[in-house]
Amino acid sequence: MEERVKKRSWAEPFKIKMVELVHMTTLEERRAALQEAGYNTFLLKSKDVYIDLLTDSGTSAMSDRQWAGMMVGDEAYAGSENYYHLEEAVRTYYGYKYLVPTHQGRAAEHIISKILVKPGDVIPGNMYFTTTRLHQELAGGTFVDVIIDEAHDPDSEHPFKGDIDLQKLETVIKKYGADKISYVCVATAVNMAGGQPISLTNLKAVRSLTQKYGIRIIHDMTRVAENAYFIKEREPGYGDKSIQEIVKEICSLTDGATMSAKKDALVNIGGFLAINDWEVFEEARNLVVVYEGLHTYGGLAGRDMEAMAIGIAESVNWDHIKARVGQVIYLGNKLLDMGVPIVKPIGSHGVFLNAKKFLPHLKQDAFPAQALAAEIYLDSGVRSMERGIVSAGRNKETGDHYYPKLELVRLTIPRRVYTQAHMDVVAESIEEVYSKREKVQGLKMVYEPKYLRFFQARFEPLG
Ligand SMILES: *Cc1c(COP(=O)(O)O)cnc(C)c1O
Repeated sequence: MEERVKKRSWAEPFKIKMVELVHMTTLEERRAALQEAGYNTFLLKSKDVYIDLLTDSGTSAMSDRQWAGMMVGDEAYAGSENYYHLEEAVRTYYGYKYLVPTHQGRAAEHIISKILVKPGDVIPGNMYFTTTRLHQELAGGTFVDVIIDEAHDPDSEHPFKGDIDLQKLETVIKKYGADKISYVCVATAVNMAGGQPISLTNLKAVRSLTQKYGIRIIHDMTRVAENAYFIKEREPGYGDKSIQEIVKEICSLTDGATMSAKKDALVNIGGFLAINDWEVFEEARNLVVVYEGLHTYGGLAGRDMEAMAIGIAESVNWDHIKARVGQVIYLGNKLLDMGVPIVKPIGSHGVFLNAKKFLPHLKQDAFPAQALAAEIYLDSGVRSMERGIVSAGRNKETGDHYYPKLELVRLTIPRRVYTQAHMDVVAESIEEVYSKREKVQGLKMVYEPKYLRFFQARFEPLG
């Protein structure tokens, strides 16, 4: 019996109750749309996209139970019933004591940075995230990357590329002094590294080290369940633990968290700040009133908080997480079989094309990943996004581009939205672009916004 079950492919642990029709476009329509969008996939209209792998943020399909939850929204200004449901879910599944809801993750980052980051501070972390680093910088801090070197190598098969290099971390602490470190920012399933997990062994070591110096750990828990999946699969001693247990153990090694519930927690909008320290909570609860809304709704409708509470419970379900990551791995393996250069091991929320290897004829300041994302869209209407020099932005002191080692195109898979057949079409399109890769031209940036430029920058073909 066991034998037979093992040979079966994974399949979606749900059936489809409602469908949304997608729009197919012609090559001419896509060419015009791309030009109008300044070769930036963020500026395309959704109606011009066939398979949308721009992001897994807020793009997941809610379950029938979550939709039912929307109907029991308690839209009271203060003390909404749904706030208490959400607080209960955060305590039950994550174990954090105090909850401040926010409209999405970056609002939680804004608030925690305002409270904990003082001008001149340093924030070590396992690779930067765009909005996280920006809020740390706006509060006067400087982010320092302390992730292991393997994370910057797209070909390293290290099973936990999200791990922190303890030597690097201790060097930073000694160099600046513990009182200059606002906190250590630990991300699970590190987005910018390609959705790569941190191990519990490493997190425990980081905990001991930071406790020695009295430094807090703030957890970017946006994809904690996906990280837990890899721990269960790869880390000795965790194979028999449930996702729920692993998630809770991860959270227990940290002092608080910022959450974009638009990812793991399966909602279209929402987030929160969770914290164990009463004083920090009090200040956060006060600040959220300034920027988001009263502390029992934080910029969300009651119904959104209800859907989030239900989504949190669904996110730690084994069948769910296995199929979610399984679909990403399905697409990744298909591309590997075709010989397409991607980041290895395959991450949890998307497949990352290695644009430096895909387009070796383009220099990094010709924006190879941006150009590749544009070319894939042109070929098939599949929308992906750049994660390379454009996303990295400029050094705030020198004004120069950062030149990140990773120059990637992210094919991000929304949760519970697309089928295996969609993944096949995506792979076929990328194979087609790969077969004529020498013809792909670089781009020049013709408009650059001041903050988070990748969202709104505009480009034109070089030459
Ligand atoms: C999406 C994301 C954020 C920011 O959250 P928003 O909800 O988009 O504001 C922060 N950290 C990580 C790792 C993310 O993926």
